[in-house]
Amino acid sequence: MDSFISQRFCQECGSPLKGRSDQKFCSDQCRNQFNNRSYAQKLTQQRQINRILMQNHQILAHYLLIDKKRKVLELDLRVKGYNFDFHTHQKQAKNGQVYIFCYDFGYLRLASNQLLLVQGSC
Ligand SMILES: [Zn+2]
Repeated sequence: MDSFISQRFCQECGSPLKGRSDQKFCSDQCRNQFNNRSYAQKLTQQRQINRILMQNHQILAHYLLIDKKRKVLELDLRVKGYNFDFHTHQKQAKNGQVYIFCYDFGYLRLASNQLLLVQGSC
């Protein structure tokens, strides 16, 4: 009964495993297939994030085309497709205010759902 309970299976093809307790795959082929697929998934995810960041950057660039600083409503950015879940980094000003950046453009949250958009160095 014990061997039935502790039976393990290949993570790629589902075949029962008979080797060491830390064995995850039945063969090198299954290991390679599994790793290649998870690498492809990571790459896809990375591309999706890059696309979101590029779009965010483009939206900020649009607002900062003429002025290097500008107040906008958060809603206006959302309407244009800005995704507030993604940014590249944040910076704290000397006065303690935290600016959220998407590459070289950033924003500071103000009262009444307003944002102060700024262009700065990364
Ligand atoms: Zn297998």
